[in-house]
Amino acid sequence: MSTTAVVTTRGLTKTFGRVTAVDHLDLEVRQGEIYAFLGRNGAGKTTTIRMLLGLIRPLAGEVRVFGRPVNSADPEWLRRVGCLVETATAYPNLTVGENLDLQRRLTGAPARAVAAVIEQLGLGAVAHRLAGQLSLGNKQRLSLARALVHTPELLVLDEPANALDPAGIVEIRELLRALADDHGTTVFVSSHILVEVAHLADRIGIVHDGRLVEELDRAALIGAARAFSAERLTEQQRADALLTLELERYFLARTDGSHQQ
Ligand code: ATP
Repeated sequence: MSTTAVVTTRGLTKTFGRVTAVDHLDLEVRQGEIYAFLGRNGAGKTTTIRMLLGLIRPLAGEVRVFGRPVNSADPEWLRRVGCLVETATAYPNLTVGENLDLQRRLTGAPARAVAAVIEQLGLGAVAHRLAGQLSLGNKQRLSLARALVHTPELLVLDEPANALDPAGIVEIRELLRALADDHGTTVFVSSHILVEVAHLADRIGIVHDGRLVEELDRAALIGAARAFSAERLTEQQRADALLTLELERYFLARTDGSHQQ
């Protein structure tokens, strides 16, 4: 991982009426790392992401992406970014393939990128179905595919695990890890579930009431969890945790990876 900053925010602040959604936020996301932005509902994650993407203007502070201030008058940098935000929905009356083809044209990606991303996201079985008729999980896969079709250098994903089943969450986690490790893609991902990102992120920033309250790396987090398990859990509790994992594996082994609904 390099030390080059891909995303930097300084004193980033946004209010909505009396609500301070983001409060003097200083963040630095480095090239090739997976940074998880973890917070409870209403912590300010989506508002931060919308400012990172230039979708809304900060009240104060600044955002730099690829070293340049985010400026909606100069959209060229957006070609280097893939994003999944709640507003970016697919066209319901176009098929999965057509939606992806549209996205790849908008981003200037080559024609072969569509088949590649369909394969990458396991959307082959539903490629000819209308986006509006997909299950929630497959809608989320399509949103991820749209974010990825032009192989962006920076991925900004707001709660990408939403609506995915446990197997899907693991699959997406592995996909993001491979993108970071093999292609140097920088990933900024928000979540409200710590375990979801504990095995994925290189660093985790915990946000609360719009403020960054703690930043930790994965090794420190897993070390703390292991110490807790060793000191505080009984043999029985550890056995129960393993049993839960085993039950999940049993279920996964009896269902395959195709996403037909
Ligand atoms: P969640 O996990 O529920 O999506 P979040 O961490 O993404 O939450 P935000 O959506 O950024 O949180 O919201 C932060 C705060 O700002 C909340 O109190 C929210 O009600 C408020 N807020 C966000 N957008 C608006 C808006 N357009 N108008 C008014 N208040 C808003």
